[in-house]
Amino acid sequence: MSELPYPYEAPVSQALFDRAAAVTPGGVNSPVRAFRAVGGTPRFMVSGSGPYLKDADGREYVDLVCSWGPMILGHAHPEVIAAVQEAVAHGTSFGTPGEGEVALAEEMVNRVGPLERVRLVSSGTEATMSAIRLARGFTHRSKVIKFAGCYHGHVDSLLAAAGSGVATFALPDTPGVTGAQAGDTIVLPYNDLEAVRAAFAAHPGEIACAITEASPGNMGVVPPLPGFNQGLKDLCAANGALYISDEVMTGFRTSRAGWYGVDGVEPDLMTFGKVMGGGFPAAAFGGRADVMAHLAPAGPVYQAGTLSGNPVATAAGLAQLRLLEDAAYTRIDSVSQQIQAMVSEALTKEGVAHTLQNASNMFSVFFTDRPVRDYEDAKAQESYRFTAFFHAMLANGVYLPPSSFESWFVSTAHDETALQRIADALPAAARAAAEATA
Ligand code: PLP
Repeated sequence: MSELPYPYEAPVSQALFDRAAAVTPGGVNSPVRAFRAVGGTPRFMVSGSGPYLKDADGREYVDLVCSWGPMILGHAHPEVIAAVQEAVAHGTSFGTPGEGEVALAEEMVNRVGPLERVRLVSSGTEATMSAIRLARGFTHRSKVIKFAGCYHGHVDSLLAAAGSGVATFALPDTPGVTGAQAGDTIVLPYNDLEAVRAAFAAHPGEIACAITEASPGNMGVVPPLPGFNQGLKDLCAANGALYISDEVMTGFRTSRAGWYGVDGVEPDLMTFGKVMGGGFPAAAFGGRADVMAHLAPAGPVYQAGTLSGNPVATAAGLAQLRLLEDAAYTRIDSVSQQIQAMVSEALTKEGVAHTLQNASNMFSVFFTDRPVRDYEDAKAQESYRFTAFFHAMLANGVYLPPSSFESWFVSTAHDETALQRIADALPAAARAAAEATA
């Protein structure tokens, strides 16, 4: 990396980071933003336009994070901005029902077959937390299956790590989560239907639901093996448990109907966020009408939110979804494939062992030559190579997720110019990855 200032300076961002650290733990409002996995100064962004972000030091980057998924049309899309301006001019929150939230729910229900009823919330965490409460209330059971490496937000019971063996109870993954909260969670290896079968056998009549990322993107991109989601759904059905598909990341991104549009497996409940909010805090959970009928005020399971269905957020989400038709997905898929091919070519040229994995247009690069099927495989990669790769890309104007355990995200706005900038940055980054030492 001799030609790169590494790590190079970002003085304005660094000053902001120092200021932030004096008032906010770790200087950020969500841990991954602090760059702890890769080191260096987190870039404080001041604006976004199309495929680009501009930081406080005045540098421009091709953005391959897209706000962790939501900005699927690129930043500041004119039609989304216009919808927001129109909505905001009428007031920002009423605490009453409004037409915008009905229209957004209708749009979602029309796109996703199994989504018969939907409840809007403000974050993906709230969506998964509420879906699990509903599943427990509906089944009158307490235990929940989740998979190691799947992230469903910072719900207490889902911040649990696998115990020592298959089907043993989980342990708290963070201080603040009690043994009781984690103890009803069963953490299993991803893509392992035998483990699911064993868990149901070990706990007959006790498991309320299994929650899984529709196609995981939080251990890097690790798609379900053929038949895994269907097998999981069938095991849930056979054992009286609900199958919850977490589409917070994949929803309306991997196709116009999300991952459901790709594999067609019908969940009992689903969760959404990111794309459906158009860059605002909007999320949702929904599914079978008979299950959703148990939710207050229709039924006994309580759930509520001051800002749920916020008129500005729903206007942004609706405007974004209405622009997401087949042509948009064709474009995003093509951009994604082109970037994957460029990354692979650059790394291959430098002799860097790597595996590119994708789920529709979501993708990530693992620094290993072995396929990654679960969290253990993902952890076995040479992450130190990613650190070097990341900083070289950043230095050359490409903003990647600051961790090797994240999906990369693209948008309809990633045009030929943006792709060329990525192509120009890759050779040095591949060299940096090749030269990196543990
Ligand atoms: N579920 C999945 C699959 C996610 O990727 C995330 C966030 O990245 C969440 C849930 C939590 O969403 P939020 O960050 O909006 O709380």
